[in-house]
Amino acid sequence: MPKQVYSDYLGPKNSGTALARESIWACKWPKDFLAKLVRKQMDSVKPFKTFRSFNSISRREFLYRAAAVGGTGLLFNTMNAWGMGIDSRVSSPPELSGSGKGKKIVILGAGLAGMTAAYELGKLGYQCQIIEARSFAGGRCQSARKGSTITELGGEKQTCQFDDGMYINHGPWRIPLHHQSTLHYTRLFDVPLEVMVNDNDHSFIYAENAGPLSKQRLRPAQIKADMRGHVAELLAKSVRNNQLDQELSADDKHLLLDYLAHEGQLAGKDLEYKGRSGRGYAVNPGAGLVPGPGTQSDPLGFKELLASKVGNVYSAVQDFPMQNTMFQPVGGMDQIAKAFEKRVGKNILYHSEVQTIRQNDKGVTITIKNTSSGKLSSVTADYCLCAIPLSVLRNIDSDFSDQFKSAVKAVAYAPVGKIGLQMKRRFWEEDEHIYGGHVLTDLHGINTISLPSSGWQQKKGVLLGYYNYQNIAVEVSGLSLKERTEFALAAGEKIFPQYRNEFETSFSVAWHRIQYNLGGWAEWNDKTRASAYPVLLEGEGRVLLAGEHLSYLTGWQAGAIESAWQQIAKIHERASA
Ligand SMILES: Cc1cc2nc3c(=O)[nH]c(=O)nc-3n(C[C@H](O)[C@H](O)[C@H](O)COP(=O)(O)OP(=O)(O)OC[C@H]3O[C@@H](n4cnc5c(N)ncnc54)[C@H](O)[C@@H]3O)c2cc1C
Repeated sequence: MPKQVYSDYLGPKNSGTALARESIWACKWPKDFLAKLVRKQMDSVKPFKTFRSFNSISRREFLYRAAAVGGTGLLFNTMNAWGMGIDSRVSSPPELSGSGKGKKIVILGAGLAGMTAAYELGKLGYQCQIIEARSFAGGRCQSARKGSTITELGGEKQTCQFDDGMYINHGPWRIPLHHQSTLHYTRLFDVPLEVMVNDNDHSFIYAENAGPLSKQRLRPAQIKADMRGHVAELLAKSVRNNQLDQELSADDKHLLLDYLAHEGQLAGKDLEYKGRSGRGYAVNPGAGLVPGPGTQSDPLGFKELLASKVGNVYSAVQDFPMQNTMFQPVGGMDQIAKAFEKRVGKNILYHSEVQTIRQNDKGVTITIKNTSSGKLSSVTADYCLCAIPLSVLRNIDSDFSDQFKSAVKAVAYAPVGKIGLQMKRRFWEEDEHIYGGHVLTDLHGINTISLPSSGWQQKKGVLLGYYNYQNIAVEVSGLSLKERTEFALAAGEKIFPQYRNEFETSFSVAWHRIQYNLGGWAEWNDKTRASAYPVLLEGEGRVLLAGEHLSYLTGWQAGAIESAWQQIAKIHERASA
């Protein structure tokens, strides 16, 4: 089974251009359009490195090698996590002195980057005007609820039919603890948060291609307990019998055995793994004699586990942005956008699509088209902060230099799709006792089925039916709305027999087909980071750029916010010079 990557910014390991193009042609929906749309995007998409070699710590290297010999994913994945170190380092906006009074800044795009800039620059006294193409602010920070509409490029109009109080975060959906910049504003603006269950050991892993464990609903708790137990047993026996190719002192040996016995709950002197209660019972303990103490469950066999590769689905330590519990705003992620809009909304010119960007040594002129009336008008300002995604900016008429235009065009955007399915009964809670978290699967185009982290034990719920990226996202986005629903149901019912019967209504989005976004998030590679990134960061003349794309936190709201913080400091410096 391929490693399931369910991060918001990591692409699937096996994505590749040739495959992607094949998938484009497999689509039922206007192929020419899709092909053109994604071809450029896919060209620069590379598989991500998920493992960094690690040669400085010899004892750990020994552990790695021992684990590798034992075929374990456990230690390997632990180290894998050490290779991922993308931190959000800034937790509050820059402290800028001086005043922006008497100076005007035009901000293009009322996403989180644009609104952050307007909010902070406004505090300094700048007059900020935000130009926004849509009728609402927030950009990708959206939630769909009853009455929400979306029309993808070339697609049908979709109106969300969820019941009152139900919603799906079809864009951003989770906030890591490291993203103190996002949390800065939720705190400042009193946006209530709740826990988002991002990892649930009692959910399911379901793989069609997992050798002897194919097509079984396995709980991560079982897999983790058994993989760790078996590996600990193997390693402990090797240590005890001095079978390792690296010498350990008597103390180290003792300490390691002690740890392994604990880690694998190894029984007695034999150091054997015989299962543990945390993997779940065959019959749960209860009252009286029956069920009384319950019946313990048998561990999965080590060979079956290794052959199935299900141990590769999880990591002992998750990748950096992921935690078992993360945050979500109560009532939908768009509460963050609404909180910003409450504060800077008076400065937003809605329904205003940027047509041209021009500048000279005195100022900037933006031509805009009213999307309702088609009327053209213009806005002038001393400086401009353009917070429009590069995927859209590349098609806007500007007088940027050729070098700058090339840099804008160089960056790929990820095709990404999500579907929300309203179920009339929370069968995952009632029948399967799963409370939030993800069902990870290799079912084609699904990746994850994610269960809501709010409304516990209510009657209905909206779950995420798929979250796909890259070539598969392109393929699925070629389906009609009805076909997408059927696609999600056909897959989901393989895992949950209740799925189809309990389904009521759906809402899906393919971000690469959304006007004013044309992709889920920017995808840089080593080459574009070296060539285009510095050029774009610098801006040109009186125009600076901001947005998630100008960060190493692409695909995260923190990227948008922190990029805005950096770029307003530059604007302020230039405007104060
Ligand atoms: C599927 C998905 C899942 C995600 N998951 C997470 C997550 O779990 N956690 C997290 O923190 N982040 C997540 N993100 C990322 C997060 O949503 C983005 O990084 C962030 O919202 C980007 O903000 P931005 O201001 O840079 O851009 P945007 O939000 O795209 O804002 C750009 C604005 O420019 C406007 N615009 C575009 N063209 C024009 C034009 N011609 N004229 C005028 N205006 C224009 C747009 O309408 C929009 O309002 C996810 C994103 C997606 C798509």
